[in-house]
Amino acid sequence: MRRKIVAGNWKMNLTFQEARELALRLNTWVKIHKPVAEVVIAPTHLFLDQVNKDLKNSTITIASQNVSAMPEGAFTGDVSAKQLLSIGIHLSIIGHSERRAYHHEVNKYIGKKMTHLYENGMSPILCVGEKLEEREAGKHFKVVGEQIKIALERQSEENLKDNLIVAYEPVWAIGTGVSAHPDQAQEMHAYIRKVLGEEKGLTVAHSTSILYGGSVTAGNASDFFEQFDIDGALVGNASLDVDDFTTIISARK
Ligand code: PEP
Repeated sequence: MRRKIVAGNWKMNLTFQEARELALRLNTWVKIHKPVAEVVIAPTHLFLDQVNKDLKNSTITIASQNVSAMPEGAFTGDVSAKQLLSIGIHLSIIGHSERRAYHHEVNKYIGKKMTHLYENGMSPILCVGEKLEEREAGKHFKVVGEQIKIALERQSEENLKDNLIVAYEPVWAIGTGVSAHPDQAQEMHAYIRKVLGEEKGLTVAHSTSILYGGSVTAGNASDFFEQFDIDGALVGNASLDVDDFTTIISARK
């Protein structure tokens, strides 16, 4: 089943104290308002354990921002799925455009991360999205289609069914204040669902939640959520402000 999800990617922001405080404030709001959307937050790895403990009986899901493609061993600075699982984390963002850009992560490698998550009984939020020059050259469908196909190449339908979240995040819209037009986002979300259906069958296509990400704000979120194939949002900057983020969560009806 397609789930309605609003996820906050905190990136490398907030101190330990600030992260705990933001999570607790958000949790209080969620308890009172009981939003329709599932709420996910992704603090930095270092804070995952404490924030997860702070929100022990909460409906908020804590996700990691990344995971290693390797199961264990001499990979300095990396964190494995098994390690995340050992502190109760079951969900991880993979393939974020900042990982692709600054850490040169390519589709096959991201696919390996996905395999590694499923092998450990975890789930991915797979980020995909084209660069500005790719859209201007009319290559956006091809680029995003390949990102999906290659990452999913080795995954079974059984693992993917009800257990995959895709975030469409055009690179030119991330952190720029220039979001995609809701029609552009809908067009790409429908295409992603079509590719999922062709590659992995209709059950997977219809059980995958596809989130839009890229300069989502308290002001524009509802325009995205009105679109048929947009199930929720992955939010960067606006997730750091409890008022903005909760307004976005409330908009997902
Ligand atoms: C993101 O980095 O996932 C993101 C969507 O950022 P922002 O909302 O700040 O554009």
